[in-house]
Amino acid sequence: MVDRVLQEVDAARDELVDFAAELIRIPTVNPPGAYYRECAELIGRRLVDFGYDIDYVTAETHVEHTPENPRINVVGVRRGRDPRPLVHLNGHFDVVPTGDGWTVDPFGGEVSGGKLYGRGAADMKAGLAAAIYAAEAIRRAGIELRGTVEVSGTVDEESGGFAGVAHLAEIGRIAADRTDHVIIPEPLNVDRVCLGHRGVYWFQITSRGRIAHGSMPFDGVNAIEQMGPVLEAIRTSLNVELESRSTAMPVEPPDARRGSININSILGGQAGETPQTPCVADRCEAIFDRRFLVEEGFEATRDEIIRLLDELAAADPKRRYQLEDLMVVHPTLTPEDDPLVESLSRSIRAVLGRPPSLVASPGTYDHKHVARIAGVESCVAYGPGELTQAHQPDEWCRVQDMVDSAKVMALTLLELVGS
Ligand SMILES: [Zn+2]
Repeated sequence: MVDRVLQEVDAARDELVDFAAELIRIPTVNPPGAYYRECAELIGRRLVDFGYDIDYVTAETHVEHTPENPRINVVGVRRGRDPRPLVHLNGHFDVVPTGDGWTVDPFGGEVSGGKLYGRGAADMKAGLAAAIYAAEAIRRAGIELRGTVEVSGTVDEESGGFAGVAHLAEIGRIAADRTDHVIIPEPLNVDRVCLGHRGVYWFQITSRGRIAHGSMPFDGVNAIEQMGPVLEAIRTSLNVELESRSTAMPVEPPDARRGSININSILGGQAGETPQTPCVADRCEAIFDRRFLVEEGFEATRDEIIRLLDELAAADPKRRYQLEDLMVVHPTLTPEDDPLVESLSRSIRAVLGRPPSLVASPGTYDHKHVARIAGVESCVAYGPGELTQAHQPDEWCRVQDMVDSAKVMALTLLELVGS
């Protein structure tokens, strides 16, 4: 049975690559979220051909959904003898803008030197195609399903996934009472299973000063100057503290096994492009991206920032700071002995002849919605392509990796829902 399924994946090699290339040729760039309907329908037609019942799920209640750029997801279900166990394969089909530096057509879907090129090749149209052909190989091998396979193509992962996987979870299409396992074929590499990710805390600090004439700055309080001590305290004190903490999560690369903080933006005083007037800046805003460890937790992470601001303000009565939370994503980690993790690990050994590595991701992806909203614990990212290719010019995915990852997913589907 295993051999038959693996043969079917090999036999579908060209079809799989062609389908991934077709997906790349639809420029589903986010923002703004272009051509989502076309891409959802391309996936939907393929799923119908492969025996699925499909639904187009439009996230009309979300602000991102507009008449020009509708948020359309596609979900296909192929039922076996029983509704459960149910394995859900989810891939986002939005891609980030191309940026500069390409030497190939970013939406050409060209294959050369054993690699498929284009925006979204690695992140993650190759993965979505591989997942679809993994399930199809079981059907072509004539194996009846015991449980159910679902496939979804979803939108907006690159901007948070709220109208995509979060929406499917909110309306109960991905839910603990019907969904047993979720595989997200993000580009984590063919021999790695990604168990989860660190937490994210985006926040804004606003410093307030007092406006005065620029020729007599001593009459005012400059808000930009007040931001200086904040940046300095983060550089010299918070960063040192973060260096001393590490996580037991197997985050790759290992440099990301610590918490981190990045200054995303800083805006103060008058906008640079407008004609300037002689004024003391009375407002300065800085936005920060703090990645925190499961061991730190969100509350302590936030309290640490509050304490830092309180201490700075106490040291000088002129300093006035406000903290505003912009986004919080809690860390997630699927246990190593989860049946899905164990099955994928066995499949990787069988297909590639080497042991898998279990990793965690430095950044977040749709796993958060599966874990937090749907409440499905058994979720991993596993798919072809390398994370270092994501969002890069001349993005590519190895064809052999697409085939190998499809085999790995097929064997796992066979174990979890096959007859
Ligand atoms: Zn992705």
